[in-house]
Amino acid sequence: MRSYKRYTRRKRLLKQIAVVALVFILGFVLLRAVSYMAIQGEIPMINSFNLFRREADTSFGWNLILVNDDYCVPRNYEVELTELSNGEKVDSRIYPQLQQMFDDARAEGLELFVREGYRTTQDQKDIMNERIQQYQDEGYSRGEAKKLAKEYVAEPGTSEHELGIAVDINADTSKCSSDAVYTWLANNAYKYGFIKRYPDNKIEITGVNNEPWHYRYVGVDAALEMQKKGLCLEEYIETLK
Ligand SMILES: [Zn+2]
Repeated sequence: MRSYKRYTRRKRLLKQIAVVALVFILGFVLLRAVSYMAIQGEIPMINSFNLFRREADTSFGWNLILVNDDYCVPRNYEVELTELSNGEKVDSRIYPQLQQMFDDARAEGLELFVREGYRTTQDQKDIMNERIQQYQDEGYSRGEAKKLAKEYVAEPGTSEHELGIAVDINADTSKCSSDAVYTWLANNAYKYGFIKRYPDNKIEITGVNNEPWHYRYVGVDAALEMQKKGLCLEEYIETLK
């Protein structure tokens, strides 16, 4: 009799656990769907939610914030901007080093400029939507277009450009080649505290294809160590933990 009672009690408990687990799973799926739609801008009132992405850790300092597909820009992240002569903006704290780097590159006969600096999350969303539209115009379904766009464009909230400490640097190709600029940057940017954020040999870690134009400020000490040891930012941050 007692063992039968225990048996039914256990059965009831199992049933309760199953119900709770089911509710959790359903809730998770629902929230994930809402979050996805929000990121895609399909729910405008909550359009900057990254519900299942952790916020980037700011404890190593503003210059070592790691933002990628796993960690989004902290909510309400504030940045003081300096406008460059071509209208692009960057975090004021990186401006002196950026200017020095450009002056020194120009002294060696290179012509380069910041193609893209700071972006708001809305800018990032617009870029994503434009790219999706391009693929749809090419005949892809909306779902396929979104998937393709995400291979090339960081999801809103996860681009380093939203921090203001990343810049896309291009050559003025009427005066010098892109290769000349990219090579100079790869060999010298670390001296000014900038790293090539998405190198060819770290694609598996960064999840981003080789971008020889995208430079990210981390500070001179960190850049020097990363250059010496051949580490990408994800790897370097691990060494700090
Ligand atoms: Zn970039």
